[in-house]
This record gives sequence, C-alpha cells and structure tokens, in this order.
Amino acid sequence: MQAPALMAILRKREGICQFFNPVFAKVWGDRDMLNKSMRLAWPELEGQGYFERIERVYDSGMPEYDYDFRARADWNNDGNVTEAYFDFVYAPYRDDDGTIEGVMIIGVDVTGKVHARQQLAEQQQLFNDITDAAGTALWMVDAQGNMTFVNKTWADWTGQPKEAHLGRGWVEFVMPEDREQVISSYLRSTTQYTPYQVDFKVLRSDGKIQWVAATGRPRYLPNGEFAGYVGSCMDITDRKKAEQKRQDNEALFRTIADSAPVLIWMAGPDMRTTFLNTSWTRFADVASLLSDDGYLQSNLIHEADADQVLKRYKQAFSHQQEFYLEYRMQCRDGSYRWVGMKGVPRLAVDGSLEGYIGSGMDITEMKELEQIKNDFIGMASHELKTPITSIKAYVQLLLSMYKNTEDAFLKKSLTTVNKQVNKLTRLITDFLDISKMESGRLSLNYEQLLLNDVLRETIEEVQHTAAQHNIIYTENVGNFTVHADRDRIAQVIINFLTNAIKYSPQSSRVEVNAARTDEEVVVAIKDYGIGIKAEDIDKIFNRFYRVEGRNEQNFSGFGIGLYVAAEIIRRHNGRVWVESVPGKGSVFYFTLPAYPQGV
Ligand code: ADP
Repeated sequence: MQAPALMAILRKREGICQFFNPVFAKVWGDRDMLNKSMRLAWPELEGQGYFERIERVYDSGMPEYDYDFRARADWNNDGNVTEAYFDFVYAPYRDDDGTIEGVMIIGVDVTGKVHARQQLAEQQQLFNDITDAAGTALWMVDAQGNMTFVNKTWADWTGQPKEAHLGRGWVEFVMPEDREQVISSYLRSTTQYTPYQVDFKVLRSDGKIQWVAATGRPRYLPNGEFAGYVGSCMDITDRKKAEQKRQDNEALFRTIADSAPVLIWMAGPDMRTTFLNTSWTRFADVASLLSDDGYLQSNLIHEADADQVLKRYKQAFSHQQEFYLEYRMQCRDGSYRWVGMKGVPRLAVDGSLEGYIGSGMDITEMKELEQIKNDFIGMASHELKTPITSIKAYVQLLLSMYKNTEDAFLKKSLTTVNKQVNKLTRLITDFLDISKMESGRLSLNYEQLLLNDVLRETIEEVQHTAAQHNIIYTENVGNFTVHADRDRIAQVIINFLTNAIKYSPQSSRVEVNAARTDEEVVVAIKDYGIGIKAEDIDKIFNRFYRVEGRNEQNFSGFGIGLYVAAEIIRRHNGRVWVESVPGKGSVFYFTLPAYPQGV
C-alpha cells in the first residue's frame, strides 16, 4: 500500500479489480473500481489494446511490458496536477497449484528518466540546429577514424544526405588527386593524437570544385580516453582563386617586365632585391644583387657614386619616398655606364610599406651629350669673356671721358652700351658658373663674414640700378656670423633681388627680412609681383627652367640664375625655397648655418 509505484491486481480473464494501491487510485481519480471488471471500471480504455493485453497475459502466462506510460495526477497532494511516466509490467499470478488466477499490474515511476531523455533529445536537436546553421562544415570521427557526424553544410556541398558521409563514405567526395594526401595526413594524426590541418578539393553537387581547409582536434572522453577527432572544413575557394589570380598576375608582370627594354627591379620592405628583369641580367652581372646581403653590395656601382647611392636608397626606404638617382654601373664587359634609376614605394591598403618597384635606363649617351654641351658652354663663355671685358673697359673709359659732355645722344648711347655690357657680363659669368658647377670646378673662397654687412652692401648696390623699386631692409640679425664666400652669397642676394624687381613691374616695393636662431639664419626676399603657379614652384630652381607662356619680351632671361643661386646655397649647407601666390607675389628664402657651427 505504501509503494511509490502503481499497483493493481485483476482477477480472472475479465480482469475484476481486486486490489489497487493509493497511487493507482490517484491516477483514476479515486473512482469506484473495486470488484468491477476492467471493461466496466475503465470504459474509456476500450479499443486501445489494454484489455486485450491483459487477456493475453492471462491466457499465455507470459508477462508483457509497456513503457513510458504518461499519467497526470496530483502526485504530491499539494493541489498541483503534474505529469508522470511509468514503465508497466503485466505479470500473471497463480494460485497454490499453479493455475493462473489473474494479472498483476505494476507501474514503476520513470519520470526522471524520461525527462532526462527528453532533455538529451532537445540538446541533440539544438546541437544539430547550431551545427547546421554554421557556414563551415563540421564533423566528428571516432577513435577508429570512422566519421560519426557531419553537419548540413557538408551535406549541402556534396548534395548527399548526411548518412552518405558516415564511416568512410566522406572519402568519396574528396577529389581523387587529393585523397591520398588527406587520408595520410589524417591517419598520421589519428595515431599521434595531434591536431591537423589539410587543404583539399571537394566535388560539389553542382559539379564545381570547392577548396576546403580542414582542421581537426583530438577529442577525449571525461575519463581521458581518446575518442577521435572533431573538426571543421572551411570553404577557401575564394582565397585559393585570389591566390591563383595573384600568381597569374605576377607571372604576367614578369613576362611584361622581361620583355621591356628598361631595367626593372623590385625590392621588399627590408630593402632586399626580390626581382630583376632580363634586361638587368643582360646589362650587368647582377646575380650577387639577389643574394642575402647583395642589395647593399655596391661593387657594381662606381666607387665614386656608391656612398651617395646607398645613402639615398636607405633614406628613401625609411621615409617611403620616391627617388631618382644617376650613377655609373659596371656592365658585363667591365665598362661603366650611366644609369638613371627611379624607385617608387609600394604601399599596402593599410599604408604599410610593401617594398619598392623601380625602373632605370642607360643614360650614358645623354650624359655624354650633356658633357659636350657643358664643355661647349664653358668654352664659348670663356671665349666671349675676353672681348666683353675689353669692350667694358673701353665703355667705362669713354664714360669717364665724356662725363661732362653736352651731347645727350652720346651720353645716352654710352649709358645704354654700359648697361647692356653689364647684363652680358652677368650672363656670361652665369654660364661659366654653370659649367664650373657641372664639372665640379666651382671653388669657394670661405671667410668669416657678418651676414648683415653682406646684405646691406648688396642691397645698396642693387638699389642703385633700380630706380622704380624701393628695397626695404629690416636689419635684425645683429652680428650673425657665417662661414661663406662673400661674392657668391652676394651673387645669390643679387639674383633674388633682381628677380623680385624684374617680376614685379606693377609694384614698387621689395622687402628683405632676416630671422635668426642660434643654428641658422633665414633670409626672405619678398615681392608683390606676378607670383608663381604651384606647378612651377618645384621646377624654377632647375637649370634652364623658365615659366612657360611668360611674355619673353617683358621678362628676358635664360633660367640660370636660380639654379646657380640654389647650388651656391647648397654648397654652403643651406636650403632655398619659395612661397608664392600667383598675382600676389613671392617670397624667396635661403638659409645659412651659423659659424662656428651651433653657436
Ligand atoms: P630667369 O633668367 O628666367 O629669370 P631664373 O633662374 O632667375 O631665370 O628664374 C627662373 C624662373 O623663375 C623665371 O623665368 C621666372 O619664371 C621665375 N621667377 C624667378 N623669380 C621670380 C619672382 N620673384 N617672381 C615670379 N617668378 C619668378
């Protein structure tokens, strides 16, 4: 009567209810069952096989079972009707001489078990849902290497149901040429219990080939026993395609580069040479350039150029700048030839340096022509200088002789001749300077100078010849001392001033300002003239560069002055630059370091 199970005893074949315990009574809502036949006690069970089962047990004497029978009742007597599950045994009972008297019904409460099973099923479902939703294929193999699980993704790829892949079925879908590699790498891991990674191709249901990257990790039971592998396969087709494309592009680049008549090279971010085209290998014995430290070996570069080239190369890399270098390089036949080499940085999307790509050309002929031209200019200027000097001397003589003449025409003619001869002299001096600079023959006579004196005297001198303009000098550099060639510095100032005057015909004001720090002085020469367009700013310091479209009648010149001035300042370890607004005016700057340095 106290048992936590359902119990009842039915007598005879018609199942007369002879006994039941309180729990059993609860299931049936405490109805009047005692001494009633089963069909009368529980009419609602008709047609569900229960009565027939009891009759069978009665007739055969063999027990029968019924599992997970669900019943609802207030099991705890707390007013709450809940669900419970029972496993039933229907067993015959006999009298003393062994004849079957009736059937015993015992129902054991298995609610906990059923709930656990339901939970497990739910978890299994959840697991399937999650793994099926994953974009990657997931799988599991047992300790013998047989597939025990694959998710929907894998099945979708292959177009076959999950079951087709279990055991060794999955191997069928690996492209035949990859099978051996996949299986051997996987078998090796399953005996060594190591994680593994392998890329292979899968034949998809749509006939396409898909690249996957499989990774697997060993799986262990809670007791530490090896249980197989769990892993994933990622679709890497796009990556492989991109890789292939990159390789194709690279091959294409090489083909193009190799057929180009110029020298083409590439270097990595560490400055190492990574590629040289065929023209290169034909031009010079470059094998060593591709070796580990070859990129810094300068033995192919003329020793007079090597230091400078390497310095600029390293500098460009560290600042990720473009560069252009001209230097002599040893060819296969041992002779040296000039090359003009350009390099541009290659940047990744995130802005980091991927390396350099560059090209170069044999510019020996150009250099030779340039040399011929320079020699010619030098020679011609030199030859012109003697007659001009003599003309100048006579003109000055005549000027002083006819200082007090009444002949206005004579006076005007002599003044004009003198002015033009001066102009010519300056031009010839400039030409001579250029040819000296180009051939490295420009020598500087250094002395200790008060910059202020040089500025003041030079400005005065220019002011004399410029009646239309007023040069305003603000003296504030005190006794700033420089180590410089007086005439050359004066030449720079004259050049900047005469330009300021020449290129500001509509204004009358030119300002000279100097600002100093302990290390250097910055001299600024400002005009309110025509200004310079942004695209010309970088070029005006180049040799023979004149701004195009400028009215030559108004502004005569050869484009030499600024080049010479810049060279002079550079040789004094200073800098030159210009700031300008077209139509508003320009400011030309130059700097000179203090002497002694740093004081
Ligand atoms: P140029 O003999 O032509 O004056 P420069 O070398 O002195 O040669 O100057 C080069 C070019 O720079 C000039 O042709 C002119 O176009 C430009 N330039 C120089 N100074 C000025 C200035 N102060 N204002 C405007 N343009 C200038």
